[in-house]
Parts: sequence; C-alpha cells; structure tokens
Amino acid sequence: MKKKQIKKTVSSLTNRPPVVAVVGHIDHGKTTLLDKIRQSKIASREPGGITQHIGASQIEFKTKDGSLRKITFIDTPGHAAFTKMRARGVEATDLVVLVIAADAGIQEQTKESLDHIKAAGTPFLVAINKIDLASGNVDQVKEELVEIGATPEEYGGDLVVVSVSAKTGQGIDNLLEMICLMADLQSLKADSNAKLKGVVIESTLDRQRGPVATVLVKNGRVKLTDEIFAETVRAKVKAVRNWLGKLVSEALPGDAVEILGFEAVPPVGAAVAKKPQPIKAKKKDIDRKKTEEEKLKLVFKADTQGTLEAILNALPPDVKIIHAGVGQLTDSDVFLAQTTGAQIFVFNVKISLAAEKIITQGGVKVFQTKIIYEFLEEVEKRLVGELDPLVGVRVLGKAKVIAEFKIKGKRIAGARVSEGEVARGSKVYLMREEKIIGEGVANSMKQQRKDIDKAIKNQEFGVVFSPHLDFALGDVIISYRNGTTDKKGRTAPED
Ligand code: GDP
Repeated sequence: MKKKQIKKTVSSLTNRPPVVAVVGHIDHGKTTLLDKIRQSKIASREPGGITQHIGASQIEFKTKDGSLRKITFIDTPGHAAFTKMRARGVEATDLVVLVIAADAGIQEQTKESLDHIKAAGTPFLVAINKIDLASGNVDQVKEELVEIGATPEEYGGDLVVVSVSAKTGQGIDNLLEMICLMADLQSLKADSNAKLKGVVIESTLDRQRGPVATVLVKNGRVKLTDEIFAETVRAKVKAVRNWLGKLVSEALPGDAVEILGFEAVPPVGAAVAKKPQPIKAKKKDIDRKKTEEEKLKLVFKADTQGTLEAILNALPPDVKIIHAGVGQLTDSDVFLAQTTGAQIFVFNVKISLAAEKIITQGGVKVFQTKIIYEFLEEVEKRLVGELDPLVGVRVLGKAKVIAEFKIKGKRIAGARVSEGEVARGSKVYLMREEKIIGEGVANSMKQQRKDIDKAIKNQEFGVVFSPHLDFALGDVIISYRNGTTDKKGRTAPED
C-alpha cells in the first residue's frame, strides 16, 4: 500500500526586526540621534546620501557577538499618531527610546512621553543625550528619573539607561546593543509566508499619485499586484517603496514601506491584511469596563506648575492620574484619555483646535474650571458616580428588610421605607453592603394582610419578589426605573 504523502508544513518563523520609536522633549536631540544612527548604519548605501522618504527607517547593526541585526525606527510626530494607533487596537511599536538631554533633564514632554509609554505598556529605555556638553549631568538626570518613579538599574530599579551623544556618536553602539537585547527579551518572531498582518502608520492623499500609505508589515509579506485591505479600504498594490524611496518587489516582517494603489486614504492605525478587516473594537471600550470597578482615571491640564501640584496633592487616593501636565489641552491628551477611558479635566487652560475637533467628533466631555475647589468637588462626585452601582437608573425609593415571614412556604420580606416610595410592580434591586445581589419585581405588596399599591416613607409592608430573591435582614430594597444620567453621571428623571 502506497503511503499517502504527508504535506510537510515548514515553519519559517524567524526573528523580525524590532520596531522602535524615539520620543522625548523638544530639542533634546531625537532628530539628531536618529540622523546619526542612520548615517552610520544604513543597510544600503545610496550614492548622494540618504533622503528619508517616509516616516520610518531601517538600519543594520553588527552586535558585539557579531550578528547582523536590523532595527526599524518609526518617527513619531508628537504622540497623536502613536496614540491613534492604540485607539484602533494596534500596537505598532515594540520598544520606545525616551531621549533626555543631559543638560536639561526631565521636562514637561518627557513626563508626557512617559505617561503615554506607561499607558501603552510598551517596553522602553532611556537615552541620556548630549553627554558631550560640559553642562550635562548624567547623574542628576538619573536622580530625577528615580524621583518620578522610573528607577535606573544601577539604582536598584529595572530601567535601562544609556548615555549618548548624538553629536559625536559616543554611546550609540551601546544604545543599539541595548535595543537588540531588549528586543530579544520580547522574542519578536514572524513568518514571511504567513497571512499578511500590518498596520498603516501614515497616510495621505498625494495630488499626483492618489492615496499613499506607509504600511508596517508585522507578519507575512506585501508584494506588487497583491490585493490588500486596510480595514475596509481596498488596494491593488501598484508600487512598493522602501524608506529610501527605492522601488522594491516586496516588504517583509519588520519593514515599513510606502504603498500605492489604495482606493481611498486609509486611516492611520488601520489593520492591513489580505481580506477586509472589521474595524477593531476601540480599546477604550475594553478599558472602560475595567474602570467601573477600578479607580477614577484622570487626564488633566493646569495653567501653572503650582496649581498642578496643589491639585495633585489634594486628589483623593481613588484617583489614578493617567497624565497631568501644564499648558493647553492637546489632541494627544484627548487621545490618551479616550484610549485609557480617562476623564478629562482642565484648569484655567485653553483647548487646542485639534483637541476641540476630537472632542466634538467623539462626544468626549471635558470638565473645565478656574476654581480648585470646584475641580476637587467634581472629582469627588464622579468618584461616587463611578463606584455607585445605581448610576444610570432612577431611584424611586428605598426600604430596609426588617423581618421575614413564611406563608404557605413562600418567604415574605417585611420592610420599612426609608426614602421615597416602593410601588407594587416596580423593578427592584436587592442590595447588601452597597452591592447589588439580586434584581426582580416587587410582585405582591401587603399591609396587615391587605393588598396595597405602594408604601411611602416610614411605612412598613410585606413583599414577595418575582423571581424569588434570597434576602436577609438588613438588606436594602431599591425601587427604580431605568432613567437617564445627566452629564455628571448622576441620575435624572426620564421625562
Ligand atoms: P529634537 O527636537 O529632539 O528632534 O532635537 P534636535 O535633534 O533637533 O536637536 C536640538 C538641538 O540640540 C540641535 O541644535 C542639535 O544640534 C543639538 N543636539 C542634539 N544632540 C546633541 C548632542 O548630543 N550634543 C550636543 N552638543 N548637541 C546636540
């Protein structure tokens, strides 16, 4: 008997280049650092120097152990693009390099970057730059890092910190070495023969060329003439260009390439595949579910460092600060709040035009005030609102279970109304220690054996629930109807 030939499935899982973003405060040297890295480590030497064609680049680096490694850097024009991707549920970046200038130390945007990194949960390392400057003080920057809760390894923490000079090139090999090491820890594998998975990292409408998108390939490959989709936007791939603008036949995992042929401009953050992609559930929805049980998340901006600190010190412990900073509310702040399910508070600052646009489009609510007291009061109210299981319903009355009777085997709760009224046929929650433990309808209500329609404050009555609720003495019966909540998260009448 002839054995059937078993088709071997060859696993071609290989390491893919890490995708790295460089962030930090303005003027701390991000651009200079990336330029220096590209100058010395480009994979293909082009006559006439390098002109970066897209918001990404790829270098090749020989590590100490002699292996040749590729690293893909993606430019992050502000945090908006970065956060936009997360808002669509994709993570483009494997690793972030946070640049801090040795002569300036931790600044406003450094903290902002750090908040974004933490919210994304992306592994990161710190590059202290400009160490060639006499005014630079590496140790001081490290101490500042400790102060904000990011403790370098040599101080007993787990933060990798390297010192570099983008100007002289000192320390850059060490930085690249650390990037490779940290990438290895994540064991970034991909299969170029697998199904295509990618993400749009930039997109635009070019007058001559039509829709143009930069796609980062995470798995599989993109070839000329392929039919691909960015979410629901179709493309018959007409051209694939690498970061230097050179036409290539295909892009492999870890590559970022410019693609022509899309029928419309796909959104940044869109997932790319061979089939149309359903638009992913926004991450904020997932996060928001958690918020209800967890702390109240806040993104807030204040006019001065003084007010910022005053507010921070006065906030109750149940508040989790996703980001707090000085200056106007930016689109990046709003994206951050959206993706983390945080509430936005601003104290005496303007809202940027870009932020305003997202706020109106996305139905985001921003609490604005110029009075610290009002700020704190609103936080308290929302805290109660967040933790109150009755948000979203209109409470009609409350009654406490004070007795239990049994008639013909049926358990009847004896209760006294403490607030409002409880009506026969009304929906009820049974609450124990501030938690809803059951829900049903107040089916039959009696007072001294007579059927009644309702019981008002201070009246006692007997009630049978439908379905049966396993009540105990001390439980509270909440009579309610579904209602709307007002913008402060408290209940308001339906009509
Ligand atoms: P970015 O805003 O973070 O992209 O910062 P840039 O790369 O534009 O750098 C801001 C300024 O710092 C420029 O004048 C750079 O020449 C200078 N700079 C960047 N890196 C270094 C460095 O390592 N040493 C010194 N001395 N100057 C640097």
